[in-house]
Amino acid sequence: MKRDRDTTDFRGMASRYRERADGCIFCNIDATRIVAENELTVATRDAHPVTEGHTLLIPRRHVVGANDLFQPELNAMWALSAKVRTALSASDPTIAAFNFGANDGLAAGQTVMHAHFHIIPRRSGDTENPHGGVRGVIPGRQSY
Ligand code: 5GP
Ligand code: ZN
Repeated sequence: MKRDRDTTDFRGMASRYRERADGCIFCNIDATRIVAENELTVATRDAHPVTEGHTLLIPRRHVVGANDLFQPELNAMWALSAKVRTALSASDPTIAAFNFGANDGLAAGQTVMHAHFHIIPRRSGDTENPHGGVRGVIPGRQSY
């Protein structure tokens, strides 16, 4: 008997990547609004930016939670993130840093139920005290 045989049946995986949800705004982003993309993910500017350049990384496949993403989608998203950050920094030298993250679930503040990650450019002095960054999701607990 041959050893190290993988018996996982990957047939059907290709169609999983084409899953979309009717009426979902992130499944139906207008092509003209896409600022960067690869096979599995797209990037678009946030419609209500926290700071100038605020960009969303969105998997093409409709999934609600970040934990539902397949590893190739996570890899694609990380690659697109690097591309987006490099482009933002190149186009705007005032960008000094980024906040990067997700509201994953209703209780965490997710409002669009199609998984996505925020890239929020930060500039020196854009808030009085940036110390603690995303800890600020619980008001009063940002600084420690
Ligand atoms: P969440 O709170 O789910 O993490 O973030 C949803 C984000 O999507 C918000 O920052 C909001 O401004 C943004 N947003 C909501 N509707 C649209 C839209 O139609 N187009 C784009 N590009 N962003 C949107
Ligand atoms: Zn969707």
